[in-house]
Amino acid sequence: MSITENYHIIKNQLPSTVQLVAVSKTHPVSAIQEVYDLGQRVFGENKVQELLEKYPLLPKDIEWHLIGHLQTNKVKYIAEFIDTIQSVDSEKLLAEINKEVGKHNRKIKVLLQVKIAAEDTKFGLEITEAKDLFEKYINGDFPNIEITGLMGMATFTDDLEQVKKEFLILKKVFNELNQLKKLETLSMGMSDDFPTAIECGANSVRVGSAIFGRRDYSK
Ligand SMILES: *Cc1c(COP(=O)(O)O)cnc(C)c1O
Repeated sequence: MSITENYHIIKNQLPSTVQLVAVSKTHPVSAIQEVYDLGQRVFGENKVQELLEKYPLLPKDIEWHLIGHLQTNKVKYIAEFIDTIQSVDSEKLLAEINKEVGKHNRKIKVLLQVKIAAEDTKFGLEITEAKDLFEKYINGDFPNIEITGLMGMATFTDDLEQVKKEFLILKKVFNELNQLKKLETLSMGMSDDFPTAIECGANSVRVGSAIFGRRDYSK
């Protein structure tokens, strides 16, 4: 199936209240432009270098989301144009983003990435760390940043019950933090598990291969 067909199939499965982040990592600028021309404006990349190569070649009204692990020394390269950093997994990173954004007189939205998967290979804050960080934010520690929500990745498994359990944990944390200060975005779900994520309360999903096709890392 073509990218255009895939895109329509995914869009048709999403309630209008759910944001789609089209994850374009490893895919060429031409593929991104094709999806852009269908009306999509929000795209996600996981590597700074790749984003910096693509960004100048694409329309300026794209809302770029960084969804991969971000090293503090790379924040300065994206601070001027990134819309949302979904993968904030340390206080050090949050402080660096706050500092760099301050130089550009704008605000960046960030999501706290919370570890919910049973496997411990993934980046992310422990739940208690995320709560502590959010409280510091509420107390005014990071004035240039807006924490607008949470992001999580479930265990990579066919067991949708396990996946559901993990998504519901994040939904609960989201509800708790939302009591302290209103949040907008709960980012959960990828190509294989986004319907489950939406069932569990996600209002933003990050879909790559179901739109762009399988990633070829050999190129
Ligand atoms: C690659 C990636 C996705 C998209 O994965 P697909 O399975 O291709 O939909 C979503 N979130 C993150 C953090 C990713 O790195």
